[in-house]
Amino acid sequence: MNLDDFECVQCGNCCNIPGYVRVADDEINKIAKFLQLEVNDFIEKYTILTDDRRSLSLIEKDDDSCIFYNSQTGCLINDLKPEQCKSFPYTWRYSNLSEICKGAEQII
Ligand code: SF4
Repeated sequence: MNLDDFECVQCGNCCNIPGYVRVADDEINKIAKFLQLEVNDFIEKYTILTDDRRSLSLIEKDDDSCIFYNSQTGCLINDLKPEQCKSFPYTWRYSNLSEICKGAEQII
């Protein structure tokens, strides 16, 4: 698969897969500011400590979607989304990528 031709079609499927979305300190600071929250309040309300205790992750809703994903409008923090989100599927991806990602499906 040649990802040079990849274009995200905003299907939102990658925002609905259970798993961690790790957030770095600088990302937390920016998102907290955007949401007009104190950093500690943001951390308490929107993150959990990962099992390996190495980072914080954004929490998920009961349906496993990202807490900041909205099915009508997409990512609510799109301009500030964590590196993990920005780098999918360029630097990491699922083995069944074309079944998950509508953008990848188009270049296969
Ligand atoms: S699954 Fe692929 S096409 Fe859909 S939002 Fe994520 S990156 Fe974009």
